[in-house]
Amino acid sequence: MTQKICLDDSYAKECSAKITKVSEGKFVVLGKTIFYAHGGGQPSDTGKIICNNKEYKVVFAKQFGDEISHEVSEHGLKEGDKVKCVLDWEKRYKHMRMHTSAHILAAVINMEIGALITGNQLGEEESRMDFNVPEFDRELLKTFEHKANEAIQKGLEITIAYEEREKALQRSELFRLKDVLPKNIPVLRIVSIGALDVQADGGTHVHNTKEIGKLKITDFKNKGAENRRIYWKLD
Ligand SMILES: [Zn+2]
Repeated sequence: MTQKICLDDSYAKECSAKITKVSEGKFVVLGKTIFYAHGGGQPSDTGKIICNNKEYKVVFAKQFGDEISHEVSEHGLKEGDKVKCVLDWEKRYKHMRMHTSAHILAAVINMEIGALITGNQLGEEESRMDFNVPEFDRELLKTFEHKANEAIQKGLEITIAYEEREKALQRSELFRLKDVLPKNIPVLRIVSIGALDVQADGGTHVHNTKEIGKLKITDFKNKGAENRRIYWKLD
């Protein structure tokens, strides 16, 4: 099992760890890690693993069962090695700002028109989210943008808590992503943004909404009769 440091401390940029398994010479499992594994619309972290003063680039991280596999760019690491992990922090921090901004935007849109999310993809420069609505007009998009920025500027604190699955499942407001409930997880991680939003979520977030900066909705598209896609960027 890999301990996921980023779930409780998203600002950890480095950690020491021990290699518990290596497959095909380049898929490395660690006892604990700071790397976020690709999933939930948030891209994998990148960075490096350092062993005996040699650096191995981490190009991708993915979760299999309760282990996180780190794909490195060259062979040489082996089971039992003690290593140091270093994140590509600039990229991760952009993902954190984007992820928290996505929750704020989704909360605002849900409050305004009751829409749920049907898909999402966060990026470093631009992100997108799909909603189960037949129509958005430009005036409505301006309202979403304005209200999201109002919330961001309030400097709301983001907090993490854990709740037993059975109890959490009774609170439908925790699951804004339509038709997607986490499977086989006995305890759910709950991310709160001040009193604005509370969601069951496995992503990495900033501590305070002021870190996000300014949100700008850049585009929207039709994605089917009952689906609309919104694109946004952060300044
Ligand atoms: Zn999320």
